[in-house]
Amino acid sequence: MENKTVKMRVMVTGGSGLVGRAIEHVLKEDGGASEGEEWIFLSSKDGNLMDPDETKALFKKHQPTHVIHLAAMVGGLFKNMRQNLDFWRINMYINDNVLQAAHEFGVEKVVSCLSTCIFPDKTTYPIDENMIHNGPPHESNFGYSYAKRMIDVHNRAYCAQFGRKYTAVIPTNIFGPHDNFNIEDGHVLPGLIHKTYIAMKEGTPLQVWGSGRPLRQFIYSLDLARLFLWVLREYNEVEPIILSVGEEDEVSIKQAADAVVKALGFNGEVLYDTSKSDGQFKKTASNAKLRKYLPDFTFTPFHKAIKETCEWFVANYEVARK
Ligand code: NAP
Ligand code: GDP
Repeated sequence: MENKTVKMRVMVTGGSGLVGRAIEHVLKEDGGASEGEEWIFLSSKDGNLMDPDETKALFKKHQPTHVIHLAAMVGGLFKNMRQNLDFWRINMYINDNVLQAAHEFGVEKVVSCLSTCIFPDKTTYPIDENMIHNGPPHESNFGYSYAKRMIDVHNRAYCAQFGRKYTAVIPTNIFGPHDNFNIEDGHVLPGLIHKTYIAMKEGTPLQVWGSGRPLRQFIYSLDLARLFLWVLREYNEVEPIILSVGEEDEVSIKQAADAVVKALGFNGEVLYDTSKSDGQFKKTASNAKLRKYLPDFTFTPFHKAIKETCEWFVANYEVARK
């Protein structure tokens, strides 16, 4: 247990995104704040983390003792397939700049963010934390995956050479308020929510991409935010930890689409466009390590979280990223 009276100055890169906004919400409106902590939420407008000098300037200005590193080029399956090179280069630059600046400015702890989509494509299930480097990732997102895997290499090397305690979490597919609802570039749930909204407005069918058969574990951004706070304050391993609902809570894309249709009250036709890619069939992850630490953590039920996200999107349609 960390001493709660110790002052922490926490800088969150990517603080304006889906996960950053969820952490901010949990701290400010959901009782997650802790005495003696100061929080700084950054967006790309504060500085371009692809640039080493701008990155160092942010560390110099804010003097963080702790960093939650979320900033990344992020996108759904179809953006990943189109831009593997950009995902590789941009994320490599950002991660190298942030971790090296953290080291140079004496940051005590960094929590970075990997993803369960970076694991080997050919693997046994469930996936666990020890399998990250055991084989090539799915070809659809190899640029993003290798860049993210290198964070684990960074963390081990900063520990081996300088004794730094920099770690990473590995969330599954995330969704919630403030997601990127862009249909071409975003992830499946925000894409389906936006497409269903349009289908209702225009009286057209909902087009779900692919067969609907692939399986995913979805985590609500507010649940992830609560777990992030625990990792920052209490988790002391350099080895990463998977943050996921249980294997029994994995759902098919069809079940996810049905949940969105129900939450928004859509009564029209639902079509499956099998000319579009299914991507990775599944990436079933084990949350046994998380459960060892936090046996009683309660995840928001999937349908409730989907309903809240749909309500947020409808209420914030004009300002939502889309
Ligand atoms: P997001 O909503 O797309 O937000 C990305 C954030 O990164 C934004 O705050 C953005 O700033 C910032 N950013 C991007 N490029 C930057 C640059 N060059 N310099 C400075 N800031 C930059 O992403 P998210 O979904 O919250 O993802 C957070 C983390 O979780 C990422 O590391 C991602 O890889 C990981 N993750 C996401 C998912 C998922 O399903 N979404 C799943 C697993 C892991 P602006 O707002 O100013 O553009
Ligand atoms: P992934 O989990 O990394 O593959 O990324 P996504 O969140 O983009 O999910 C992709 C899965 O959802 C694939 O099986 C797609 O065929 C399916 N899917 C169905 N409709 C959509 C949609 O509107 N947008 C996206 N991104 N994927 C969709």
